Amino acid sequence: MSKVALITGATRGIGKEIALTLAKEGYDISLNYRKENEDLDSTKKQIEELGRKCLAVKADVSSFDECENLVKQTIENFGQIDVLVNNAGITKDNLLMRMKEEDFKDVINVNLVGTFNMTKNTISYMMKARQGRIINISSVVGIAGNAGQTNYSASKAGIIGFTKSLAKEVASRNILVNAVAPGFIQTSMTDVLKDDIKENIAKSIPLKRMGTAKDVANVVKFLASDDSSYITGQVINVDGGMLM
Ligand code: NAP
Repeated sequence: MSKVALITGATRGIGKEIALTLAKEGYDISLNYRKENEDLDSTKKQIEELGRKCLAVKADVSSFDECENLVKQTIENFGQIDVLVNNAGITKDNLLMRMKEEDFKDVINVNLVGTFNMTKNTISYMMKARQGRIINISSVVGIAGNAGQTNYSASKAGIIGFTKSLAKEVASRNILVNAVAPGFIQTSMTDVLKDDIKENIAKSIPLKRMGTAKDVANVVKFLASDDSSYITGQVINVDGGMLM
């Protein structure tokens, strides 16, 4: 039977690349999306063209009930979840002085509470199966901080604490929990920055370029594979050497 990976926020950017990379590895994919659009149709089609099954389920990860439904539908359809990738994330940047309470809470609710909602609903199936991989997408700013991102960096630092605590709780059941901390990756999340700002950031990175979604997806592929079976509770930076 094929292994099954559930990826949140998987119709574009890093999530889409993770879904396609795992599909190429032979995983059937439970593809979470928030909005119906052409990105969803094309991602689903690309996965099916790789010869894999793809179940697309709508859910806002900040809703516990919608996550419960997403996990239930995945289990009903595929019977198992071998890999959960908590990828869905948003930014609402501003200096704390100007940040609205709702912008702080929205980012925490999607990025951190969303990770809890998905993991809480999935973990009992992995416990019963006595195996599983949970891969949480954090960020280097969750480690180093970044002016204008108190909400985002708090959510991403929270994901790191969550990852390490859960790794300790479930290691005896052979469930491995790790985080990936991307640096500055080319997606619509970073496209909003002006070109000169992007160029300056790229110059400051030891490898002198922004990362690609594929750079991140390759590390997720490794963490999902048997090659990483002695790694849990870790944060792996994918940042071209930004943070060392
Ligand atoms: P992106 O292109 O903006 O994609 C974000 C994805 O998350 C979209 O598919 C979006 O769905 C989905 N999403 C947002 N809110 C959601 C919700 N409430 N429920 C379900 N799905 C939701 O961003 P990205 O760059 O690929 O980022 C992916 C992850 O990597 C995020 O966790 C981000 O924080 C992290 N990361 C990115 C960078 C970077 O430089 N790009 C660096 C460090 C970490 P819709 O299409 O419906 O909006």
